[in-house]
Amino acid sequence: MSIIVQKFGGSSVADAEKIHRAARRAIKAKLDGHQVVMVVSAMGKTTDKLVALAHEVNPNPPRREMDMLLTTGEQVSISLMAMAIQAAGHEAISFTGGQIGMITDASHTRARIRSIDADRIHRELDAGRIVIVAGFQGVTEEGALTTLGRGGSDTTAVALAAVLRAVCEIYTDVDGVYTTDPRIVPQARKMKEINYDEMLELASLGAKVMHSRSIEFGKKYNVPIHVRSSLTDTEGTMIVAQTAGMEDIVVRGVTLKRDLARVILIGVPNQPGIASRIFARIAENKLVVDDIIQNIVEHASEANIGFTTSKADAREARMVCEQLAREIGVRSVELDEDLAKVSIVGVGMKTHTGVAAKMFQALADARINIQNITTSEIVISCIVAAADGEKAVQVLHRAFELDKEQ
Ligand code: ADP
Ligand code: ASP
Ligand code: MG
Repeated sequence: MSIIVQKFGGSSVADAEKIHRAARRAIKAKLDGHQVVMVVSAMGKTTDKLVALAHEVNPNPPRREMDMLLTTGEQVSISLMAMAIQAAGHEAISFTGGQIGMITDASHTRARIRSIDADRIHRELDAGRIVIVAGFQGVTEEGALTTLGRGGSDTTAVALAAVLRAVCEIYTDVDGVYTTDPRIVPQARKMKEINYDEMLELASLGAKVMHSRSIEFGKKYNVPIHVRSSLTDTEGTMIVAQTAGMEDIVVRGVTLKRDLARVILIGVPNQPGIASRIFARIAENKLVVDDIIQNIVEHASEANIGFTTSKADAREARMVCEQLAREIGVRSVELDEDLAKVSIVGVGMKTHTGVAAKMFQALADARINIQNITTSEIVISCIVAAADGEKAVQVLHRAFELDKEQ
């Protein structure tokens, strides 16, 4: 019997009526002859509210206690979902991450999955139950509660689909993956399909519709992922290994990563080993660096070394750098907290020329200043002022004609 993993995001379980709607979908899949595992997120904006509450109590909440707090959100949804299914006359059982052996490392608030014990789930499925699993959470070998990073329920779902050899359906508040966030560009177009590599870049660069780690699992274990609306039956977007005419489309999507900050160490001695010391210290403090920027000044005797990071980590990063600055003799440490990154993504860039020039021209025509540029084989990213972020997405979406049929 085939297994389906159905994941419902926060807005798809935001109230009792939506919980019933999700429950009906799972029941229908069961009646169609599948074994069904549901992964659910916390209701509506629960996680945001818990984060805000934590900061009211402690401006710098310890990560372990954050996980203890945030995992409660998903526990509410799983129990209510099981009740809804039982109220409709079907058997269901809910599990926390720990109960189904979702073992992670100990990096609180951004833990990585190490292993999943599928036996318990199989037993319940074989007994004819719909199994409901709390998204976003796991447990360390020692039993501490962990979370997988904001948006991490997608990763729970795809990782479960991988170990259960199931297909994965992601039910959300949009009916698929679009060429960019439809909230920023209403003319954005839904893609019928997209390959793992492009989706991984879109997700890592800000397309919140999928958590990027989920796509890494999808790619590694070749899990077919269907992103679709929880409110309609419209076909969504299939995320798969290969799509037709992949290289013909130069730019598949535009993304915006908000809430970026940049820390710059000014006047760093330009000597071998300094960059390694800086970034070793950053890593020791478990701070995640986005891009690194280095430029040489003052007849090559000094350099400026900077990096972008999330706004949430920026102050801690500055503190770590200030301490280091005293140790290695850096002139000053600066922090800019109002940045965003706009990126274009497409496998076709590998075989087409002039893409970067077109991107920079479009931004220049809109009088948007580019503060830093990074490229890879299938991505070009520009750091811009936060206030220019949405406009940058709009002009790039138009410049690459993503609103037209490809
Ligand atoms: P869920 O709570 O179901 O996990 P999310 O809010 O995490 O939902 O993700 C869905 C949202 O992602 C959409 O409402 C949309 O605004 C945003 N989004 C950003 N980029 C894209 C994109 N390229 N395609 C579709 N949605 C996107
Ligand atoms: N509830 C968590 C969050 O809001 C996980 C998720 O929704 O995927 O980040
Ligand atoms: Mg999400």
